[in-house]
Amino acid sequence: PYDMLIVGGGPAGAAAAIYAARKGIRTGLVAERFGGQVLDTLAIENFPSVEYTEGPKLAAALEAHVRQYGVDLVTAQVARALHPAGDDGLLGIELESGATLRARSVVLAPGARWRQTGVPGEAEYRTRGVTYCPHCDGPLFKGKPVAVIGGGNSGVEAAIDLAGVASEVTLLEYEGKLRADEVLQRKLRSLPNVRVLVNAQTTEMLGDGQRLTGLRWLERGTALRHELAVDGVFVQIGLLPNTEWLKGAVKLSARGEIVIDDRGQTSLPGVFAAGDATTEPYKQIVVAMGAGSTAALSAFDYLIRTPAG
Ligand code: FAD
Repeated sequence: PYDMLIVGGGPAGAAAAIYAARKGIRTGLVAERFGGQVLDTLAIENFPSVEYTEGPKLAAALEAHVRQYGVDLVTAQVARALHPAGDDGLLGIELESGATLRARSVVLAPGARWRQTGVPGEAEYRTRGVTYCPHCDGPLFKGKPVAVIGGGNSGVEAAIDLAGVASEVTLLEYEGKLRADEVLQRKLRSLPNVRVLVNAQTTEMLGDGQRLTGLRWLERGTALRHELAVDGVFVQIGLLPNTEWLKGAVKLSARGEIVIDDRGQTSLPGVFAAGDATTEPYKQIVVAMGAGSTAALSAFDYLIRTPAG
């Protein structure tokens, strides 16, 4: 068994693994995809001491750092259940492969994923015009009209990013105004090929059976219905924590986030959590790394106070 088993290989899980391994304890890390959301990020300009880097580069550096400490890395594996400790004091992480990894303490860092609109056509045209990752798919729409759904930071960032590639960008926000930081909104307004629609509820994604051709939206308040012809729709309406598999095992908030205290402790003894999957309000790389370190140090503190077996 491991002394500490970390679930998740994003910034939170990687930081936890480094802090755990440096204590000289047996450390394992299981992840579906090492790097997490960072792999989907192009420019990173807010990681203190690094003026500019790119997601895949940071992810590779994180992996090299983790490997240097001899952490047992189990990648391309998905955890499907967390089992509380039995008489042997060992927690269990059950994988979709059927195997169960055992550990004296666990750090949960499964991160988050993009939320979907759920409107008709979205699933049908996913990867055929409907996308969630501007950095990955933006270049596919060079010189073509696109729409962005969502006026928060990620939606406005996406619109700014896409304005440099697409012919025209239409941003649709459900509420009466954008929620993004003022500095981003100012940047957005300075771009000649971006149009912003507020009170705009997307009701359907349209296509010809092969590819997306546009979307339908409802003008809230007036009940007027409109159609917009676009080649791409970028859905940017928030993040969902990857915690469905933890329901009933640890306490989750109404939004499905793992409830932690200021030491990263969850509701289950020996189980700690960090990063975008938790109630921590700021979903950022540096925050996730700090939280991962906190969770690992708390788990270590728990281990030295808890007799083995
Ligand atoms: P994640 O990065 O989501 O990693 C989760 C890990 O858990 C992955 O390894 C995943 O494979 C694994 N996992 C999930 N479920 C399971 C399971 N059941 N079993 C096994 N493994 C599982 N932040 C910044 O600070 N600066 C930026 O510029 C920035 N830009 C961003 C741009 C984009 C496009 C996106 C999507 C995010 C951006 N962020 C940025 C946010 C930042 O990427 C996240 O806050 C950070 O990655 C969260 O780290 P995490 O470790 O909590 O989760």
